[in-house]
Order: sequence, then C-alpha cells, then structure tokens
Amino acid sequence: MTAKAPPSREYSVFDPAEVDSLIRALTGRGYEVVGPTIRDGAILYDRLSSAEDLPKGWTDEQQGGKYRLKHREDGAFFGYTVGPHTWKKFLFPSSHVLWKARRSNGAFEIFPEEQKPTKFAFFGVRSCELQAIQVQDKIFLEGPYADPLYKSKREKMFIVAVNCAQAGGTCFCDSMGTGPSVSTGFDLLLTEVLRDARHFLVARAGSRRGAELLAEIPAQVASHAEIAAAASVVDETKRHMGRSMQTDGLKELLYRNSESPRWDVVAKRCLSCANCTLVCPTCFCSTIEDVTDLTGQEASRVRKWDSCFTTDFSYLHGGSVRATVRSKYRQWMMHKLAYWLDQFATSGCVGCGRCITWCPVGIDITEEAKAIRDSDSAISSVE
Ligand code: SF4
Ligand code: SF4
Repeated sequence: MTAKAPPSREYSVFDPAEVDSLIRALTGRGYEVVGPTIRDGAILYDRLSSAEDLPKGWTDEQQGGKYRLKHREDGAFFGYTVGPHTWKKFLFPSSHVLWKARRSNGAFEIFPEEQKPTKFAFFGVRSCELQAIQVQDKIFLEGPYADPLYKSKREKMFIVAVNCAQAGGTCFCDSMGTGPSVSTGFDLLLTEVLRDARHFLVARAGSRRGAELLAEIPAQVASHAEIAAAASVVDETKRHMGRSMQTDGLKELLYRNSESPRWDVVAKRCLSCANCTLVCPTCFCSTIEDVTDLTGQEASRVRKWDSCFTTDFSYLHGGSVRATVRSKYRQWMMHKLAYWLDQFATSGCVGCGRCITWCPVGIDITEEAKAIRDSDSAISSVE
C-alpha cells in the first residue's frame, strides 16, 4: 500500500467570511478594489468597499436579448456569469480627456491632461475576461504605440480571478478555448464550492503578491477532497455551456463567404445600435472629438469609444465606406473571427456571450457562424 501524499500547500482553503478580509487587505495595500455589484437590475462592475457590496445570493439568467437577476438560496458570492460591464471600462475608459487648451494673451496654451493612474484590484475576473484583457494588451501595449495610461494601470493592477461555477445561457468559452477554468494571468485564483452542506473557497496564488495577500487572511492548507471538489466545480460548468462555436477552419470559411446571402438575412434584423461592440470585452475602437466650452476660452480633445456600427466610423472624404447594415455587421463579425487572427494572431472573440445577451433583437454570433458553415457545406456538396 502506498502512503497518501500530504495535502498540496499550493492550495489554501478559507471560510466565506474571509472574502471580506481579502477585500479589506487589498484596500489596506492602497488598491481601489472594483468588482461585481448589483445596480440597475444587473450585475455591474464598480467600487467595492466590503464583501457586502458583492452580489451574494444572486444569479443571472441569460438568453439572446434577455437578462434577469434571480435570488439563489445558497448565499454564493460568485453564483452568476458575466453582466453588461467589462473590465475595459477601467483600463480603457469610454471617455478620456487627452489634453485641454486655454486661450491666453491672444494665443493658446495646451495642457496635457494630468494622468494619475489608479492602482486597481480587479475582484472576481472570469477566465474569458482574463483572456480578453490579454487580447487588449496586444492592442494597447504591443506594437510601436503603447497607450501610456493603459500601460501604467495595467502594470500596477492586482487580479483576483474566479473559476466559473456555472455557465450562462449565452456562454461558449469552452469551445473558444478561453474558459471556464482560469489558467494564467492572475495574482490570486478562487474557486467557490457549495457542496454537502459546506460552503468554502479554494485559493491558489499566481504571483508573489498573491501569495503575500493570501498569507494575510485566515486560511488553511486545502485537503485533497477540497481540491478535488474545486476541480469538479469547473468540470461541471464545462458541461453546461449555453452555446458553442465550431472554430476549425472558421477564418477560411468566413473569407470564402464574404458575399454569402446570410449577411442580408442578419442585416434585416440588425438595428445597427452598436450594443454588441460596447459590451464586448475585446472591442477597442475609439474616435477623437474636440469640444469647446461656451465662452470659447477652453477646448478639450477627448477620446471616446466608437463602433464599426456607426456610419461615421468608416467616413472618408466623400462618404462612408460601410454605409449599409449588411457591411457593418459583416465587418464586425469577420473582424472578430477572421481578420483579428491575421492582425493579432488571436481570435477577437473569447466566447463571453455578452453580444448575444445584450443585442436587443437577440442576434447570436454562434448562430450566424453556423448558418454560414451550413450554407457553405450545402454549396460544397452540390459542387
Ligand atoms: S464577440 Fe460577443 S461573445 Fe465574443 S467576446 Fe465579444 S461580446 Fe463576447
Ligand atoms: S447585432 Fe444586435 S447589438 Fe449588434 S448592432 Fe446589430 S442589433 Fe445592435
């Protein structure tokens, strides 16, 4: 008989009451802790002062064009999936003043906007969201022009990630290879377990800072059974994805079908409202606006989120390149699933499902990709 290995010191276990200790320890280290909280009938990301602010005992139900919150009886802290907000609202805010100019003695002076990057701790980041942050890193940090504000916030931030304990009706991270299990890019990883009348959190540090923080709260070395229970939570989530996306040959499929009649079908439903781009954690397009005050003494240059669904977005001298809904939707979906791979060597979609849930008419990127694949196979079989 072989002796049983001692419990792994890599994993700790702690009581739900210590979630508050974690938030307070982060605040004590000078972090602005932001994470999930209930507001306006949804789970949004905002400032957290204590565990009281978390959506404890709430879950969400999601389908195409539908979202609602529901009570759950078990008091889970992380018993929901993802809401309309993404972490990009902190790293790449929807509106940001780049500089201001003031009239002075018949001329004008320019003042760069003072940038005091907040030291954020993101609390409750899901696997697909971590992958989305890494996708945005490619845009804002790599290449010849790094975004200085993004860079300074990104370097300072602390990430508390959470393994998903339930999949939403519009989630498809498993088929995109981006979840539900968190693999890299975190300081601390939590798995919440509610099983056999027990409620506990299994934690693993992913950095020295994470290990130091974990050492500050009352926690024990996790037992084999507790680690196995945490692993089974993620396995169970995998089995309940609401959607799936067949990714093999997807880029080539879309390039081959740039004139598919399916683009006309989806264009008849699409309102060109841009919701899908605003809720998407990887979308990064912005525009620059110059505004003046009413007296004409001061002007500002502001960077704001933009979307490939607005007509002005593709405006060049003489008109917009993409003036029809068909061309706008095609640009968005092909960028996500095809051009992005050529541009950034990664998919622009992490399978979070937000664009499906928050589309007012329930247009579903997985359904559109499948319809194109089905029509492509039908054509190939005729040939
Ligand atoms: S395209 Fe849709 S499912 Fe994919 S990352 Fe963006 S919002 Fe999520
Ligand atoms: S696909 Fe849906 S969310 Fe996106 S622009 Fe069209 S109607 Fe709006």
